Amino acid sequence: MGSGKVTSSALSELKGKHVTVAGLGVSGVPAAKVLHGLGAHVTVVNDGADERARAQAADLEALGITVRLGDGDTLPEGTELIVTAPGWKPDKPLFAAAGQAGVPVWGDVELAWRLRGPGAAPWLAVTGTNGKTTTVQMLASILRAAGLRTAAVGNIGVSLLDAVTGEEEYDVLAVELSSYQLHWAPSLRAHSAAVLNLAPDHLDWHGSMEAYAADKGRIYEGNRVACVYNVADKATEDLVREADVEEGCRAIGFTLGTPAPSQLGVVDGILVDRAFVEDRHKNAQELAEVSDVNPPAPHNIANALAAAALARAFGVSAAAVRDGLRSFTPDAHRIAHVADVDGVAYIDDSKATNTHAAEASLAAYESIVWIAGGLAKGATFDELVARAAKRLRGAVLIGADRALIREALARHAPEVPVVDLDRTDTGAMLQAVQEAQRLARPGDTVLLAPACASMDMFTNYNKRGDAFAEAVRELGA
Ligand code: ADP
Repeated sequence: MGSGKVTSSALSELKGKHVTVAGLGVSGVPAAKVLHGLGAHVTVVNDGADERARAQAADLEALGITVRLGDGDTLPEGTELIVTAPGWKPDKPLFAAAGQAGVPVWGDVELAWRLRGPGAAPWLAVTGTNGKTTTVQMLASILRAAGLRTAAVGNIGVSLLDAVTGEEEYDVLAVELSSYQLHWAPSLRAHSAAVLNLAPDHLDWHGSMEAYAADKGRIYEGNRVACVYNVADKATEDLVREADVEEGCRAIGFTLGTPAPSQLGVVDGILVDRAFVEDRHKNAQELAEVSDVNPPAPHNIANALAAAALARAFGVSAAAVRDGLRSFTPDAHRIAHVADVDGVAYIDDSKATNTHAAEASLAAYESIVWIAGGLAKGATFDELVARAAKRLRGAVLIGADRALIREALARHAPEVPVVDLDRTDTGAMLQAVQEAQRLARPGDTVLLAPACASMDMFTNYNKRGDAFAEAVRELGA
């Protein structure tokens, strides 16, 4: 690690301190190494003791870091600070013990934030139930087009700790933050931030919708230039109103409709800015065409507007917004066009792992054969099916919780033909695609937007999407 970029106050704060890192894994291992490198006495505690954990522990122990496997609930004696993996639930006994002992708890984001050196790159931060990764990548693409040194960081690409402590210099960072990370990041203060949307998700972790929203809302705390919200999702605007921001920080809305002053929106197929222009009551600045957004599905245009708003808040030119959007390519399995077979388009949106995401992708096509199902994670499907009903040519259901979707279809779309595949083996995808082909007519879209997690049938959503693409290729062969 290069500690050259780390702030000297953080160095003196952490040197010699007894820090407990809660959880091995993607954030815990690098956090432990960075803290050790800064001269802290580090103990890592971890619930599990499987092979992977043992290997990680051996790696850390070789550096002189203490690791306790199989007990993540006992607070090590003498702990002065806990740095936790973001996924650890706030009601874990370890945190109750920390509370009693007056020990502060930081997440990985809080640690990274505190380690930023003087003059460090400001953060443009993005959260929301869906669209975070896409928006952050669009934002990074726009910032790069503006000639700025930047990276998309967070759950993707470069890790936050690396970005803050590594050798690479940045002008600004495009930061993706989950609700868990925000929960554990009390002192984070972004330059500007966006909440893309708010739908019930991860409620078992946060305890309630209110607690989930409150954690998301932390992203606006202390913003300096702009709090970007979704005009179509009032909950996001409410969070801006509740936030305590720096004097002069503005609330900026994005909308798929015509923008009001202080908003970005769409007019006649053009993305326009009525926020960061002179005399926003009379003027608007053209940014890009809807066709510059890839793919130009409505929810993705919303993501592009949010990314543009953050970039404009940072002073980026309209031309850079256009160039950045044009050169952006989405990650795999996010509304990916796999092939056209006999006039039918096959689209892989395996990343639509919850109903809110699936609703967005179903709204993007006119006539759909929908492949759905998997692990529902406690979701209900009535609203989703009721909204999508008129666009459905048919549905093919797979996976463990498919009965929930079948019942919702029977209630809200009884005329839509449904094929219920009573199997959860990996090979089911080929049959699902064949059934979808049978139902589809030329001009239709066969859309994999499962609205469910994949782990009942696949290792992850990537593998599910790959199986879909593979099956489509067999159709065309
Ligand atoms: P996240 O990082 O929040 O999971 P991604 O950008 O990876 O978001 O997109 C995940 C899925 O969410 C996409 O496959 C798409 O189905 C859906 N999605 C993307 N953007 C939005 C949006 N603005 N609103 C609703 N759903 C969206």
